[in-house]
Amino acid sequence: MLLFEEMGLDPMLLLSVKELGFEVPTPIQEKTIPALLKERTDILAFAQTGTGKTAAFGLPVVQLTDPGLKATQALVLCPTRELCMQITNDLTRFAAHKPGMTIVPVYGGASINDQIKKLEKGAAIVVATPGRAVDLINRKKLILSRVKWLVLDEADEMLSMGFKDDLDTILSLTPSDRQTLLFSATMPHEMMAIAAKYMKSPLEISTGKMNAGAENVSHEYFMVHARDRYEALKRIADVNPRIYGIVFCRTRIETKEVADNLIRDGYNADALHGDLSQDQRDIVMNRFRNRHLQILVATDVAARGLDVNDLTHIINYNLPDDPEIYIHRSGRTGRAGKKGISISILHLKETGKLKDIERMLGKKMERKPVPTGRDICEKQLFNLVDKVEKVEVNTEEIENYLQVIFRKLEWLDREDLIRHFISVEFNRFLEAYQNAPDLNVEHHETSSRKNRQENFQGENRREKRNSSYDRADRTDRTGRSNPDASRWQRKGISFSRFFMNMGKNDQLDKKEIIQLINRQMPGKSVEIGQIEVMRNFSFFEIDHRYERDIQKAFQKVQFNGKRIGVESARPKE
Ligand code: AMP
Repeated sequence: MLLFEEMGLDPMLLLSVKELGFEVPTPIQEKTIPALLKERTDILAFAQTGTGKTAAFGLPVVQLTDPGLKATQALVLCPTRELCMQITNDLTRFAAHKPGMTIVPVYGGASINDQIKKLEKGAAIVVATPGRAVDLINRKKLILSRVKWLVLDEADEMLSMGFKDDLDTILSLTPSDRQTLLFSATMPHEMMAIAAKYMKSPLEISTGKMNAGAENVSHEYFMVHARDRYEALKRIADVNPRIYGIVFCRTRIETKEVADNLIRDGYNADALHGDLSQDQRDIVMNRFRNRHLQILVATDVAARGLDVNDLTHIINYNLPDDPEIYIHRSGRTGRAGKKGISISILHLKETGKLKDIERMLGKKMERKPVPTGRDICEKQLFNLVDKVEKVEVNTEEIENYLQVIFRKLEWLDREDLIRHFISVEFNRFLEAYQNAPDLNVEHHETSSRKNRQENFQGENRREKRNSSYDRADRTDRTGRSNPDASRWQRKGISFSRFFMNMGKNDQLDKKEIIQLINRQMPGKSVEIGQIEVMRNFSFFEIDHRYERDIQKAFQKVQFNGKRIGVESARPKE
């Protein structure tokens, strides 16, 4: 393994690396840093958040940027404002010992004038969201003529958020002898097309899926009845008094409900979902980052911009349909060498999904018993004793009251006194869990129910296949299934295929797509063909005669607060 000292990094960068506490390079750093420092090739890297990719491109770019030159030499593009701030912070820390380096973040939703002032003062490196970058380019405030490095970070997310046109604009405006570095967790077709168009024989780097099945994340699950999910969640929180984790839910409604219940029941929790304004989201994220909140209940989409490294737990309130989403979720814990736990609260119907996830993880998830009332009381008791032992006593402030208190408690001996103090807090848990039922689904129940369940699931699957066939292959524009699938052939309809920049991660499904088309094309009788909803994007077919209308109809349309992008796609081979 190469060490940081052996990669060609300057002493001032090595000093920053040391101060940041990085001891050995991560795999992506080991491959990217020497390549960037020695060659001028483009780089196409498969890498997720948490792999150390910011330092992989950030250290060499900071080293090679000339602070004496006023011009912008590096442009880093990323999908969200949170990531923009985070990358800027990281780059600033890398540049801590390089005097005169100017690193400016520019992103939407904040005053453009303030950003212009900063750019005018000189910005050797600019970190930008694509929309704001294009705005500043059009105003001639962001000048790209001297850009040597163009970094596309989380490129797949930028595409799925509808920034393709902006990326095209920026890529075509930067000098052709620039070095392009593209980082992405997945490589959808659209991105390969960008890479083919704008990159010159890129060096491909793949570090695999960091954290996915990493040794330091343990994957556990509880098996309960669906109605006991919330109760099981409370027990996880109670048996881990120092929990610092994210509870992932599938929908905004569920997110709100779970968070409201936790708050009502006295937990230090809050919700993060798409119904909140950007300001509200910022407040919640900051409270969580600063550890003023212990439990964040979130949807996958809303938690995207949140990067916190020392989470103790990821809790799957239910399993996502796509195993990759589970991998993403659990990859948020167990980072930077720390241990992490990913717990899923399952009910019997989810055993199929569990198997899919295990297959993708390449390891078994361990079934654990739901903590009993006794487990929780014991854990809380020792946590309390620990707190009593370690509490800082403010001798000065308390002194005035002590004489009276000593006199009042005089009749209790030492042991009784301890009993009384502990009981103040402990009784709460004893009471709460006095008649607490066992939430575990019994083993015999599991197997007998499992058989029933498997049959049920078999039926379910068949039913699902049929229904998706109905919806996808035989749906008319009202969203009702069309009983006569061959009608189209008889009517001689030919379909055009379209790409849409949103998918399951945006809570989009086939029904929503049908509704969106219906809404945007009122009064027209448009036949809808096949619909495929992927993780970050979708495809749909409509009667080819409406090809132009559909693209026009979807201009400036939003779904869940995100701009929808619809483009013509080649037919499926
Ligand atoms: P990133 O994938 O760039 O978001 O980095 C994930 C986290 O890992 C950040 O908190 C970095 O500070 C940390 N990190 C990056 N490189 C290293 C390293 N070589 N050793 C330890 N931590 C690192």
